[in-house]
Amino acid sequence: MSEPGVPERADDLELPCGEVIHPSAFDLGMREFDCACGETHAVVMDVHPLARFVPEFLVDTLRRTITTDDDFDAFGTPHAMAMVREEFPDKVASADCSTDGTVGYALLWVAEFDARRLHSIVVELLLELMEHAISHTENDALAAEFEQYMYEFDLDEFVELYRNEREFETEHDTAI
Ligand SMILES: [Zn+2]
Repeated sequence: MSEPGVPERADDLELPCGEVIHPSAFDLGMREFDCACGETHAVVMDVHPLARFVPEFLVDTLRRTITTDDDFDAFGTPHAMAMVREEFPDKVASADCSTDGTVGYALLWVAEFDARRLHSIVVELLLELMEHAISHTENDALAAEFEQYMYEFDLDEFVELYRNEREFETEHDTAI
């Protein structure tokens, strides 16, 4: 029950490893969480841009090819994380903190695996999704561009380079 003038606080979140923690322990700049269980868990928030995982041109292509029928205007991080949860239902915990004014984000995901593994998974799922979507468009130029991209694509190398580059550019991603 919320009292007038007192912000509602989100509930505690049970992580996939079994640790229970309040979402306020995660701040906006956080990408990984060193857990009491001894593991490092990937942390994602709805305010993190999709460009955290893939380059802008892929984000643009996704937005042009994937239609969303939910409250979000365009394909973004929440959709990508929904795909990860679908693939690994027991390995990603999520919290809706939209009524909690103290945390600075609305949605939070914490994975059992680390940020690098999550990055690989997200990239793989997004590319699969795009491949599927592009095969259903009549846009030959886009299909050719994507095919060429996939031909030269190496997942591990991509994740490695992308993470280094982002790290170098800015410590914290900017919100959309
Ligand atoms: Zn843990």
